[in-house]
Amino acid sequence: MAKQAPTMKPWIEGIHAYVPGKSTRADGRRLVKLSANENPLGCSASALAALATDHVPAAYPDPDATALRAAIGKQHGIDPARIVCGTGSDELLNLAAQGFAGPGDEVLFSRFSFAVYDIAARRCGATPVEAPDTDYTADVDALLAAVTQRTRVVFLANPNNPTGTYLPRAEVERLHAGLPGDALLVIDQAYAEYLEPGENDGGLDLAMAHENVLVTRTFSKIYGLAGERIGWATGTPNLIDVLNRIRGPFNVTSSGQRAALAAIADHAFLARSREANREERKRFIAAIEGLGNHGLRAIPSKANFVLILFEGDLAAETALDAIAEAGYAVRHLPGQGLAQALRITIGTANQMDEIIGVLRSLCGEDA
Ligand code: PMP
Repeated sequence: MAKQAPTMKPWIEGIHAYVPGKSTRADGRRLVKLSANENPLGCSASALAALATDHVPAAYPDPDATALRAAIGKQHGIDPARIVCGTGSDELLNLAAQGFAGPGDEVLFSRFSFAVYDIAARRCGATPVEAPDTDYTADVDALLAAVTQRTRVVFLANPNNPTGTYLPRAEVERLHAGLPGDALLVIDQAYAEYLEPGENDGGLDLAMAHENVLVTRTFSKIYGLAGERIGWATGTPNLIDVLNRIRGPFNVTSSGQRAALAAIADHAFLARSREANREERKRFIAAIEGLGNHGLRAIPSKANFVLILFEGDLAAETALDAIAEAGYAVRHLPGQGLAQALRITIGTANQMDEIIGVLRSLCGEDA
């Protein structure tokens, strides 16, 4: 009997496979990536050393990432029983949607926020709902106005990707206070370590105090361990129990656990990365402001990237191609309604000088 093709679930039909940014030039040469918000300084030397030692690929990893959860708990003053690790924070964002939303439910987030929220909603059959932003920033009133009886999960990236914008603590608390108690608020703090010391959106405090708040973090950004795929989430024991039930049993590799354990102890590397990012981001934004009369505008960023809007004669796509010619990949997100924008990761001083040079010469300014 002829075999029929299996039928895809209808809610999967709306999902488009992830399209990574360009990584090679037309002539086949590899581009330097300023497109994935990685740390240009790499990772802590002690994390590299940890990766090189005690490697036993034949053995399964610790399924509970016990030592790593203990270290994260110690660093943040959180009971490790309230922490779960994931294959990047991506996995945990998906599990949060899967654990609490399904067909007929709504998953809410702001326009111009992290692309995974839409996919996480669709993967579990829920309906993604996008609230309007205000000038590329999440708008608490608009989010609250979009809540319905079917809202089960609300995602907030803070700082946000791809805009770099940030909601201060009072706004995050106002969002939480306005949500129904049975809707889960997921505060995605992938870029939280780039905030200045003392700057704090209160997400971890909310997650400790309320049954309906989950905070996610990652080792992919400031810790420079994106290739190892390690994220973590914290919330009440009930929430963590739900994620533990549905996660993969060995979801964080042994090398990832070891590297993260070493990385978390290297405070100097973190401070150095934050400082370098702050300086280069400031310099880059000032250079873009200098091109304001050509219609370039930098959205204020608290993260390790800047979204540049092209509101004059120079098209984002022209800039994308010229930057690629100069050897760099940056992110163009036309599918997310950002056809006239580029998101550029903050790289080293030399790399930023080259990007600035390309943009200045495209604008007819001395490079
Ligand atoms: N949240 C946000 C806002 C991000 O930008 C990213 C990475 N692009 C992630 C989560 C996921 O990162 P990872 O899975 O590497 O932890």
